[in-house]
Amino acid sequence: MTIRVNMPHLSSRKTKIIATLGPASDTQDVIYKLIEAGVNVFRLNMSHGEHDSHRRLYQLIRESAAALNLHVAIFADLCGPKIRTGRFKDGSIILKKGDQLVVTTRDVIGEDGLIPCQYRALADDVTVGDRILLDDGKFELRVRAKKGQDIDCEVIYGGELKNNKGINLPGVNVSCPSLTEKDRADALFALDLGVDYLALSFVRKAEDITDLRQLIVSNGYDTHIIAKIEKPEALTNGQDIIKAADAIMIARGDLGVELNPEDVPIAQRQLIKTARVLNKPVIVATQMLESMIESSRPTRAEVADISNAVYSSTDAVMLSGETAAGYFPVEAVEIMSKVIKQTEAFMREQDVFGKLAHRENELKPLPFGDAVADATAQLCFDLHAKAIVSITSGGMSVVTLSSARPAAPLIAISANKWVCQRMNLYWGVVPMHSEEAGHAHPNKLARRYAIETELANVGDNVVVVRGFHQDSQLNSPTITMLTL
Ligand code: PEP
Repeated sequence: MTIRVNMPHLSSRKTKIIATLGPASDTQDVIYKLIEAGVNVFRLNMSHGEHDSHRRLYQLIRESAAALNLHVAIFADLCGPKIRTGRFKDGSIILKKGDQLVVTTRDVIGEDGLIPCQYRALADDVTVGDRILLDDGKFELRVRAKKGQDIDCEVIYGGELKNNKGINLPGVNVSCPSLTEKDRADALFALDLGVDYLALSFVRKAEDITDLRQLIVSNGYDTHIIAKIEKPEALTNGQDIIKAADAIMIARGDLGVELNPEDVPIAQRQLIKTARVLNKPVIVATQMLESMIESSRPTRAEVADISNAVYSSTDAVMLSGETAAGYFPVEAVEIMSKVIKQTEAFMREQDVFGKLAHRENELKPLPFGDAVADATAQLCFDLHAKAIVSITSGGMSVVTLSSARPAAPLIAISANKWVCQRMNLYWGVVPMHSEEAGHAHPNKLARRYAIETELANVGDNVVVVRGFHQDSQLNSPTITMLTL
């Protein structure tokens, strides 16, 4: 495969960009431009659209990536137990502060004073005094009484409520399973398509992830799982969820409805830190460039939000409505890429790369992988290494090396193109597909790819890391230093 060395994001951006596809970006032309502008990972959102439209988008992404000779990862975002209103006779109703109305789980069409809800156990789960938040928390109801499937409520904050809007129940123990029947069907569809990750919404505990893993494995796949952290319970069970998942997403939209908004940035910092300690990639999502849905320029606050997430060493930042439904999908990616690069240039100047490992101050020895990753990051400084090269079969060594946030780009060579796609989510990783990985001498491959990617030149130092193994008896990582 010819390596596209002139793509600006190949060599000079470490934090990855995720774009959600939707009506604003559902053509080959826009998808191609999004990849050129710097998208590393695409999200297919199972909350919207039919399987046929997702299949079409999947194919367009794979075709565009192939045309550009680039690896791109794709994940399907499963809805999870998202509770929604039903439909209204006239498409919407007006909620006025102080109004009394009924939320019902009966199968009816809504009208003034009557809000249908698709979640059948709602009346069992809520109690008098609970809050019911509607449409991403824009509107608020207070439960006054329950009668069978009907819940009498008072409007605390009103506005226009449209069809199929989300319902959040802060502090309520929602009884439905995390993996719904729709999720199971969507997961099997997406696995069959060949997505690189499945993301699960509204995860509450580690078992939610193991249930999904069971579905994946029992169907013969090894697709990785992204746990979306958007419930207070997920924060309480954060460590276990992160250990059970392959990556996490800080889904700030729903998290900001379920928590007080002022608690979200703190949760973000803590989750990034924990995910980093556990060597799990982390995504910061939602409203990063929200104003660019309508405007060609971002607000200063949005730019600062991206920059702060990058400085906290997140693996990836995500665009949702900006690329799915906005007027400026490509521009949003371009701006995001510029902000990331500028912040990373500052970080380089400040010498912070390689010092962001967030290892816990443990009394027992570090696992080999973590120690090798930290040593590799240090060698990059000491040798002014231009690249790290890792030859990998499943990407485990690469995710560990990436977690030390080394200053040099990490060229990850694998014979498995699916592993190359998946590694696109990892911070600082430049995946390269080579049938020779595992056969050719690692140093020979390292020299070749360091030069061909133009990440290093003759005379430069590179660091080669290999020999990771999941079996501790076979795990014997080695670090080799080469001058090209
Ligand atoms: C979120 O809530 O922030 C999120 C990413 O999830 P979704 O876009 O599926 O609501």
